[in-house]
Amino acid sequence: MVNPASFFPQAIYGRATLDPEGVPRVLISPHRYIQGQGVLDHLGEYISIIPGERPAVLLSVGGEKRFGEQIGKSFKEPGIDYTVEIFKGECSENEVKRLVALLKNRDPDIDAIIAVGGGKCMDAGKCVAFRLGVPIVTCPTIASTDAPCSAVSVMYSDEGVQVGPEFFPNSPALVIVDTRIIIRAPMRQLIAGMGDALATYYETRTCFQNLKARSIVGARPTITAMAISELCAKTLLENGMNAVDAMLRQEPNEAFERIVEANTLLSGIGFESGGLAAAHAVAAGLTEIPVLHENFFHGELVGIGILSHLLLEDKADEAREAAEFMAGVGLPVHAGQLSLDMEKDASSIKKAMEGAVLSTLTEAEPFEVTPEKLYSAFVEANRLGVSITQDLGDAAYRRLHP
Ligand SMILES: [Zn+2]
Repeated sequence: MVNPASFFPQAIYGRATLDPEGVPRVLISPHRYIQGQGVLDHLGEYISIIPGERPAVLLSVGGEKRFGEQIGKSFKEPGIDYTVEIFKGECSENEVKRLVALLKNRDPDIDAIIAVGGGKCMDAGKCVAFRLGVPIVTCPTIASTDAPCSAVSVMYSDEGVQVGPEFFPNSPALVIVDTRIIIRAPMRQLIAGMGDALATYYETRTCFQNLKARSIVGARPTITAMAISELCAKTLLENGMNAVDAMLRQEPNEAFERIVEANTLLSGIGFESGGLAAAHAVAAGLTEIPVLHENFFHGELVGIGILSHLLLEDKADEAREAAEFMAGVGLPVHAGQLSLDMEKDASSIKKAMEGAVLSTLTEAEPFEVTPEKLYSAFVEANRLGVSITQDLGDAAYRRLHP
């Protein structure tokens, strides 16, 4: 069995850091991406591509109830002998160890892991597959995370506190995105995913333009990652509102398909091969404020981070465009919508900005970022968000936060 947590891409790609010109451009992507209405019905056929004949399916208790029968049916015709294990909800070292103990030394051996569910289930599945030395197949049931396509998992303690990333040498062998399932997921999650996906363009651009910046694997972004990130933002800005309408009507349309692809594939590749910068730094800092950590999704905090990021970089016109889009789909655009009071909560916001700088993600910016500078950008972002909601109203936000 492979030694867990033994793969550090930064040490491999970043070897040439003494000579910045020598840092390679690296693109990471899943082997195959399959998206469409009802594609999970064909899981059994798709798995034969790997090929996998004795897969283990990882699902939560709720996921088993919702998708267990559908998955079982898809395996019946091709005659695939599969097993199901229940994922208990936390992507922690202990949960991964428990699942590995259950799945190793089977006779015959398990030859693939299929993780069906949200970000944590897919992240745990990647860890289990790596430790068993088999391919991972991800089947997201929501379109709000970068987990399905990436070769990295976010690890937590058993209590749910974030511990850090774990990297893998292999990307998912198959990513299977059933839009008939995604459209039934909570709308606020899809919209939070749009916030996370929108940041991909602005952050990749920052890393791409600053020759000293590195992607999360310690490499330089390719022009491919730059183009994918740009397409990601363009797709969101053009189709976001129509996708929200489709979700309200529970009828997938072209705009919805495009948004699911942007949130999952474009954002996934862009994040992994492009890089992170101030927008994610602000989001990381804000999670230190308990009310935000408990009540808001990652993508919602990244959203307010985008506005801070763009204003920090003196890009007021783009910040306005992003804020208008965000307010239109229902993402929070000012402190009040994040249940913060700029005066009363000033000290915790300032502390969060210190945390943001400590996250080191701001090092991707081409100038020195201090907590004071980041705080001023946050104040300016809040002012912009307030004025946008005065102009456009906040109906979309209130629909998601009744
Ligand atoms: Zn993110």
